[in-house]
Amino acid sequence: MPEKMLKFPVLPQHQPEKRAAPDRSTDFAEIYRDFATTEAAAQSSRCSQCGVPFCSVHCPLNNNIPDWLKLTAENRLEEAYEVSAATNNFPEICGRICPQDRLCEGNCVIEKGFESVTIGAVERFITDHAWTQGWVKPITVREEVPQSIGIVGAGPGGLAAADELRRRGYQVHVYDRHDRAGGLLIYGIPGFKLEKDIVLRRWRLLEEGGVRFHLNTEVGTDVTFAELRARHDAVLIATGVYQARDIGGPGAGLPGIVPSLDYLIASNRKGLGDTVQEYEDGTLNAAGKRVVVIGGGDTAMDCVRTAVRQGAASVACLYRRDRANMPGSMREVKNAEEEGVRFQWLSAPEAFQGRNSVTAVRAVKMRLGLPDASGRQSVEIVDGSHFTVGADLVIKALGFDPEPLPTLWSQDGLEVSRWGTLRINARSFETALPGVFAAGDIVRGASLVVWAIRDGRDAAGAIHNYLAQQDFAVAAE
Ligand code: FAD
Ligand code: SF4
Ligand code: SF4
Repeated sequence: MPEKMLKFPVLPQHQPEKRAAPDRSTDFAEIYRDFATTEAAAQSSRCSQCGVPFCSVHCPLNNNIPDWLKLTAENRLEEAYEVSAATNNFPEICGRICPQDRLCEGNCVIEKGFESVTIGAVERFITDHAWTQGWVKPITVREEVPQSIGIVGAGPGGLAAADELRRRGYQVHVYDRHDRAGGLLIYGIPGFKLEKDIVLRRWRLLEEGGVRFHLNTEVGTDVTFAELRARHDAVLIATGVYQARDIGGPGAGLPGIVPSLDYLIASNRKGLGDTVQEYEDGTLNAAGKRVVVIGGGDTAMDCVRTAVRQGAASVACLYRRDRANMPGSMREVKNAEEEGVRFQWLSAPEAFQGRNSVTAVRAVKMRLGLPDASGRQSVEIVDGSHFTVGADLVIKALGFDPEPLPTLWSQDGLEVSRWGTLRINARSFETALPGVFAAGDIVRGASLVVWAIRDGRDAAGAIHNYLAQQDFAVAAE
């Protein structure tokens, strides 16, 4: 065992310093400060270099975590960067926003009583450092390959696939309906978790490496899917899931009740320097308002914390289950609580009050019942437990379903599951249409950035195999 490692019994865990709540609650800058090189090396040295590293097993990318921790502990940072970048197209992004407590760090096997290695923070440090040193370079293609691939969606899934395919020399074209690349990395996830420059510099790097972006181009409207198939030798669909789940009940249509993604996109655009009419006129701006967010996932957490930063008068979050059963990351709940968000667990909205716009949410208390078929505890209403929460802005964050692509794109052959996600062959990533592949949330349903990257990488490998077979078939004719 290298001398530098196995320091966990003598060296306590330190995460990068977190800005104090009063300081961070008024801006959209990231809340964690950077590790200094010495801190990153010291924290890496806590790893016990397990023979079977459960951290890697539970990382969706199966990153070689013990290897890059050892190299960081030995201050061999360029090598650490190379090992880290070999399995992850955007390590500095995952280091910031993966729910590490449920993935790598949550499965670190350091003996009980000692806290896990700070894997995410070290991963982020390695690649941030690599950027400052100029080690992160655009793709240089050794030999151009004439075949072209059209990728629909510039989110992490589409971008990871674009990166992998361009490295193999293909002509890669990425189409997105937005004016910037990044998908939810740019317009969903707020800057206090992931600063926008981190995403924008990746987009620029891909462009410099020869990936061609066709932005402001909605497939199905600006270009038909059939045209796209005719234009390219293979097509990858990585369009994510965007159909917001709605809420019913009396008053649900009142002005002042808005979908979470509209709210977050307006805030992110504003932060990027765009003029956003609905932000300026107050429709999608929490300043001075009593805000109620409905939901308990990561999107709800991003909304409550955005509202705090916009200067809301108060921010409450209603969730129908309890803290232990919420889908959002515990780390984010804690951050939100520190920033002054009031959580009302086991509470569900029943109706919305107001004349011209919403003024209050009428809610009811819930209790957890027996587990249902999925093993999750059901919820039931507590009789006579109604209460009212004052609200000038209600944000609905109840999750997302896929848009009905076969209908929108007039592609009956595109098969979907009963949840509306695209059906693919799990090994070849191919849909029911030949030469058409799919990856990311549009296949999995709402998931995580790291899974979209994994899918994008795997789909790129599958597309490469498919095109190689096509070539072989042509040569054999
Ligand atoms: P997306 O990122 O959704 O990208 C899809 C792209 O396709 C978009 O740019 C869209 O404009 C484009 N597109 C769609 N339809 C068309 C069309 N017809 N024509 C052209 N372009 C089209 N995950 C984490 O791991 N950590 C987090 O902290 C986290 N926070 C989140 C916060 C919020 C508010 C949300 C909504 C999600 C969060 N997630 C988080 C989930 C994560 O963002 C997604 O799982 C991930 O972005 C999915 O990647 P994707 O490439 O499949 O799709
Ligand atoms: Fe952990 Fe995510 Fe990095 Fe994997 S990609 S090591 S899960 S932070
Ligand atoms: Fe190191 Fe923990 Fe991974 Fe073991 S599980 S290799 S101790 S980070």
